[in-house]
Formats: sequence, structure tokens, C-alpha cells
Amino acid sequence: MYLIKTPSVIQKLFPSFHWKVDTPKETPVLYLTFDDGPIPQITPWIQEQLAAFNAKATFFCVGNNARRYPELMEATLAAGHSVGNHTMHHLDGWKSDNLPYFHDVRHCALQVKSSLFRPPYGRLKPAQAQFLTRHYEVVMWDVLSGDFDPELTAEDCFNNVVRNARSGSIVVFHDSLKAEDTVRAVLPRLLKHYAELGYSFEALTPELLTQRKAELAPQLQTA
Ligand SMILES: [Zn+2]
Repeated sequence: MYLIKTPSVIQKLFPSFHWKVDTPKETPVLYLTFDDGPIPQITPWIQEQLAAFNAKATFFCVGNNARRYPELMEATLAAGHSVGNHTMHHLDGWKSDNLPYFHDVRHCALQVKSSLFRPPYGRLKPAQAQFLTRHYEVVMWDVLSGDFDPELTAEDCFNNVVRNARSGSIVVFHDSLKAEDTVRAVLPRLLKHYAELGYSFEALTPELLTQRKAELAPQLQTA
């Protein structure tokens, strides 16, 4: 069971996480993210599709894959995309003790040098969240495409995004074998759809997200 659109009440319950980005209305932007790669079977293909639309995206990399395919990491950065930490071994925070979990995140950080972090499955225990938000920009999402779900067709997945994504939405896809067929069917169509609506596709950066956090906490220094 999962939710395609993260309800705003959940987003408000965890304000230290990034769920979407406030963007000016006149310049709509979509923040596409791809989790679990990089792998040679699909990551380069995704980046070719993005390049055709001059689109930038964010890749939350599993450390083990980053270690295995350093050339894919280099190509990702060289193309202007950003990368984030997705733990070394794709750990589920709810099922992990805190110290081994933090160790796995740090292990990944040696491969994926980034202060962006997305917890696998979006799951963190409160103590993990508290610790990680001090050291990372924790990036969740506004819309899940559902590309990982074998019960969904490519059409379902396309509709999940177009019915729910708005300017500033952070949208989740996967560069994984499990999602490959769906992503191949959906991504070019989505890029075309949003490009025709005047959207641009940008990468999330620590600078963008920390700036946003600073803007959200203005009243604190009034004294
Ligand atoms: Zn993942």
C-alpha cells in the first residue's frame, strides 16, 4: 500500500523534509528524480531521453551501484544532473538499528559525494530523521509514479504523474531493472507532455533546497 500523491497533511507533519519546491507560477518546473541506480541497462538511456529535452534530473544512487559503475556517476554529473545518497545497500530505516543505518549512509557518502539524501522506501525512524536532517537535505516526494509496481500499466503510471504533478513537484521514478519497461514506455511521453506545457526540468541541488529552508524560517531572527 502506498500513496501516489503525498497528502499535504503528511508534508506538513514533517516540515524538515523536502516534498516539493516553491516555484514562481510563470516558470513551471518539474523535479524528476530517479532512484536505485546507476545501472548500465537503463541509466544511460534515461539520460539520453532527458538530453533530448535539455532536461536535468536528480539521481538518488545506491552506493553499491555507484561503486560498481563509477563511469555512470561521472557521466551523470558531466551531463549536469545532480546525485544524492540512497544508502549503500538500500536499507529500510524502519527495519534497521540506528547506528548500522548511519554507517551505511556514510559508506554511501564515500561513493556519492552529495548532501542530498533520500531514504529507501521513504522510511526513517524519528531518531534517524532527526540525525540525518542535521547533516543532509532529506528529499522525499510529492508524486510517486508507481513505476515499480507490476500491477500498474504504463498508462496508469503516466496518469499518476499528469493527474498529480504541479509546478515544483518532486516526482519519483526508478532507474532499476524492476521499473525498466514502464520507464521506457512513460518517460519520453511525459517529457513531451510537460515540455509542451512550457515546463522545464531541473535538478535539485543543496543550494536550492537550503535557500528554500531559509525562506521558510524567516520570523526566527526578528528579535
Ligand atoms: Zn530506492
